[in-house]
Amino acid sequence: MSENLNPFAIAQAQLDEAARILQLDPDMHAFLREPMREFHFTIPVKMDDGRTRVFRGYRVQYNDARGPAKGGLRFHWEETIDTVRALAAWMTWKTAVVDIPLGGGKGGVVCDPRELSPGELERLSRGYMRCIARYVGLTKDVPAPDVYTNPQIMAWMMDEYDMLVGHREPGVITGKPLPLGGSAGRDDATARGGIYVTREAAKVLGIELAGATCAIQGYGNAGSFYHSLAEELLGMKVVAVSDSRGGILNWDGLRATDVKTHKAQTGSVLGFPGAQTITNEQLLELEVVVLAPAALENVITARNAANIKAKMTAELANGPTTPEADEILYKNGVYVMPDFLCNAGGVTVSYFEMVQNAYQYYWSAPMVHERLDQKMTAAYNAVHRMADAKKVNNRVAAYLVAVDRVAQTVRLRGWV
Ligand code: NAD
Repeated sequence: MSENLNPFAIAQAQLDEAARILQLDPDMHAFLREPMREFHFTIPVKMDDGRTRVFRGYRVQYNDARGPAKGGLRFHWEETIDTVRALAAWMTWKTAVVDIPLGGGKGGVVCDPRELSPGELERLSRGYMRCIARYVGLTKDVPAPDVYTNPQIMAWMMDEYDMLVGHREPGVITGKPLPLGGSAGRDDATARGGIYVTREAAKVLGIELAGATCAIQGYGNAGSFYHSLAEELLGMKVVAVSDSRGGILNWDGLRATDVKTHKAQTGSVLGFPGAQTITNEQLLELEVVVLAPAALENVITARNAANIKAKMTAELANGPTTPEADEILYKNGVYVMPDFLCNAGGVTVSYFEMVQNAYQYYWSAPMVHERLDQKMTAAYNAVHRMADAKKVNNRVAAYLVAVDRVAQTVRLRGWV
């Protein structure tokens, strides 16, 4: 039978396994299996040619028992409501595993932002905020950037919200540009959090990271910063990177500053001097110490999991590994640092941004880094202890920690 690659079906199957091990009350399990709230809407946008195009938008508030819903907003041509549901569920477990007082949400628009002019992108972003303004806010639901959304888009959305409500509320959205109340250290926070988790895991595994090889799939916010920080903070040798057009490999190492400059000039990592071209599939199967999937879901599946030769995978992307692939990796001794632990640095610094916005008093980058390190290290240790105690893989362990915390607040509120 072929694998079910529907991300929400995968998120539910992962929860089911955790519920079984936790012996979760069946009513609680049923409640945690579904989103609490969903918004589906159309966004009419005046295009540059004078016509109006109608885009489909979603916002899912999966669970807000621990605090306001929190989660990114993705602009993607293949966006579906089930992808948004899955990402919102993972946000719920992510905020719980790093123990910040927030719930989980996610948003999406079905569009190809690469084909939109800056004016069209601004009108779409403002239109999205007009559709959800009643349902978001500092105490309800706080969006942030994700794939193909960025600080400028967050700025337009914050401004639209402020105009609608008639007052300034910078904490309504995070990932803003610094002059509008963004946090120092938010730009590389996801990758930096992943670096701290990689460092802690390597200590446990007894792996020396200085000089260790690394391959990174995806060269956007998460992937490109993981590259520079792996060099800078861990002394690793990144030998392969890729983007949607393909990958490059050089066993002597690829320097982050050079690859970033090349991508900025040409639009892709392809054609980088001195490197050979490889496919995204080949990159995943390289014999490296750390493999970092940092693009999209379902790239390590039952089809290729047995060919993964990395010692550890640092899941910066959400949902890169399917449940069947997880079992194969675990059996083969590949150490997985699961997505909602490994990439939780972004939401953690988003939370710091909300705190700073509330006080209108801002922290230095070293202070953000130090506090992020404390949160990520504590989260990794909680998951590692659970994996050891229950003899389960890290993903199941992360679920056990997170689901238990969410269920506790649901119970205390008297919802179930
Ligand atoms: P981004 O838009 O900045 O970059 C995405 C990168 O992936 C681009 O380089 C793109 O070329 C590449 N890509 C797209 N399709 C690909 C494919 N089929 N094969 C290989 N590469 C492909 O996005 P991002 O913010 O870096 O997000 C990447 C992943 O990390 C997503 O799964 C996202 O949900 C997750 N994530 C991001 C953050 C964050 O703060 N940015 C936080 C947590 C998780």
